[in-house]
Amino acid sequence: MLTPEEIFSKISKSKDADCDLVSVYRALAVYDEIGMLKKSKFQSEATRYAFAETSEHANEFHEHYFKCIQCDELQPLQGCIIEAIEKKLERSGYRGLQHHLEITGYCPSCAQSPEFESLF
Ligand SMILES: [Zn+2]
Ligand SMILES: [Zn+2]
Repeated sequence: MLTPEEIFSKISKSKDADCDLVSVYRALAVYDEIGMLKKSKFQSEATRYAFAETSEHANEFHEHYFKCIQCDELQPLQGCIIEAIEKKLERSGYRGLQHHLEITGYCPSCAQSPEFESLF
C-alpha cells in the first residue's frame, strides 16, 4: 500500500509523466468514490491506498433489488447470474468490470390492489 506522495514519486520517475501531487489526490478521490480503493491509516501516518480486489469488492457491496413501481418497496434479490459472466471475463484478463441491474414491477400486495386491476 502506498501513500499519495509515494505514488507521486513513482509516477514522476517515469520520463514523460505530466502529473503533479494534486492530480494524484484528485485521481485517488475518484477511484475511492467508485469503491475501487482500499484505504488504511496507521496512527498519524498518511493514508495508504491500494486497489481493491474486484472479486472482494463484489462480495462486499454486491446486491440487486426488485423495486415496486407502485409503492417503492425494495426487495433484495439473492445472488446474481451476471457475476458468473464477470468471473469468466476476469479469468480472460478483463478488469474493473461493473454492471447494473434493476428489476421493476408490481409487488404481490400492489398486484392485488384495485388500482392495479384498473390499469389492465
Ligand atoms: Zn408495491
Ligand atoms: Zn449483479
